[in-house]
Amino acid sequence: MTQQPQPPVPYLQTSDYRWTEAAFRLLEAGALTATVTARDNIASAVVDGVCPRCAHPFTDRRSLTAVTNGLGGTRAAPGGGPGLAEPVGAAEAVVLDVTCSCGVPHPTGETGAAADATAVTGCGVSFRIELAPEHDPVGGRP
Ligand SMILES: [Zn+2]
Ligand SMILES: [Zn+2]
Repeated sequence: MTQQPQPPVPYLQTSDYRWTEAAFRLLEAGALTATVTARDNIASAVVDGVCPRCAHPFTDRRSLTAVTNGLGGTRAAPGGGPGLAEPVGAAEAVVLDVTCSCGVPHPTGETGAAADATAVTGCGVSFRIELAPEHDPVGGRP
């Protein structure tokens, strides 16, 4: 029997709160970073670091601006008039729901066989990151 030293954790779709807590600890340790940048009224977030479940590195980029998914009617205010879109990152906390996208195929089931690499990317974990603007990301506790 030859055992792999670190076999990838099996794929599991979970959003258990423990992973949110684990992600928070990674943020504190600096192994995971979440950055929000705003440009031209468009705020985007980048989460970069290691997954709290499978420990693979991944990068998650997304736009934070409230987007209407209607392809037919574009209701965006022309010229960027204020009022419709709430500016993100001004004074409110930003909440990011992140799903692992490490790109490493994780085996499904208990057979140990690797799943289709094209179908599964990431270990399936979802967790939440809260960013408090104007606040030290790694603050000293009182
Ligand atoms: Zn992974
Ligand atoms: Zn993962």
